[in-house]
Amino acid sequence: MAASDSNTNIPEYECIDVNTKPFHIEAFRTEWLRRLHPSQYSYEQPEEDGFEVTFVKEMAIDEDTMSELKAVCSIDSLRCHPKDEQPDTDLVPEDPVLRTLIQRKQKQDHKASQKSVKNRHDLYADELERVTVERKPEAVENLIPEGEVLLTINVYYPAVFDKFNYTRPHMTLLMTGSHTLAELRDAICCVSDVQVCGEFSNNPDMVPDLVSKDHYKSAFFYFEGVFYNDMRFSDCRDISITTIEWAKTRNFPPFSQGKMEDTRFVDLKVKVGFPYLYCHQGDCEHLVIITDVRLMHRSDCLDKKNYPLLIHKDRIDTQKCAVCHVYIARWYTTNDQFAPSDPCLFCDKCFRMLHYDTEGNKLGHFLAYPYIDKGAFN
Ligand SMILES: [Zn+2]
Ligand SMILES: [Zn+2]
Repeated sequence: MAASDSNTNIPEYECIDVNTKPFHIEAFRTEWLRRLHPSQYSYEQPEEDGFEVTFVKEMAIDEDTMSELKAVCSIDSLRCHPKDEQPDTDLVPEDPVLRTLIQRKQKQDHKASQKSVKNRHDLYADELERVTVERKPEAVENLIPEGEVLLTINVYYPAVFDKFNYTRPHMTLLMTGSHTLAELRDAICCVSDVQVCGEFSNNPDMVPDLVSKDHYKSAFFYFEGVFYNDMRFSDCRDISITTIEWAKTRNFPPFSQGKMEDTRFVDLKVKVGFPYLYCHQGDCEHLVIITDVRLMHRSDCLDKKNYPLLIHKDRIDTQKCAVCHVYIARWYTTNDQFAPSDPCLFCDKCFRMLHYDTEGNKLGHFLAYPYIDKGAFN
């Protein structure tokens, strides 16, 4: 495909139903704003009367027809019960043919069969929705300006190609066009950032508070031929240079570099639906897919303080302790004469009971490393 194809700033499919050709996000936004009337992306509720007047004019009908239309199309006339009867809205009629009713019935049956109350993940998701949908900020300066662009971003844990179709995003975030890539980085929670390195079998109480994120701050995003490095701290290094140098010697198209803290989403040229890369902690790689770019709507959360807005988080199976099978693992050991496997995972309690006497003295030979489970963020 010719490079000139990408000069358009209206997203077109490159692979049907998979991803678009690259387009510039700010130019796309400008294109939208040029074509829309400000009232179409304004946060003000459109006036009912205004709508009617326009409708009558555009459809060339008279006032009487309009009133009749209004009466016929009113939601009051949408009912499956006699006029004078008060319906039970929880009762789905026998053998419904409407798709909405069929689905409602299925949901009710499913609920009845489960009997259990919502688990804490569902409760958390409900609560998140309650506090964010159509939320207006308390202070005016926290209002996201009208005509701002909103991106939906999926972040995935690494997966092999064959499995990728079945992999669900680890998290889904909403971010505005003026957010920087550094803000995206800070919103991605990955267990590699909080691991503690070191062997602590001789002094399990001495595990330091510093986690890998405090030691190894370098990271990069890769979008459309550009590596965006995190250079916010003095100990950050350009970890993309190895790949760039390697690519130079192997006839790849040239790559360039940028800083993630200086790059806003509106500055990017991207393909929607295309997998890009986030790499941190040396070799912890995640796929990042922008699944939607659109203008902000009045029904969105309009409070800047709530962004980046987490709208989905996947539940991850937790690795349990090999002894009690109840608690999440906190330690893993190797060369461990007490362990049923090598390496082996233990919760804190079982680990200490099995490996130390009542005075806290180490028993036998083993190496012990602090372990943070992927599911610890659930
Ligand atoms: Zn990671
Ligand atoms: Zn245990």
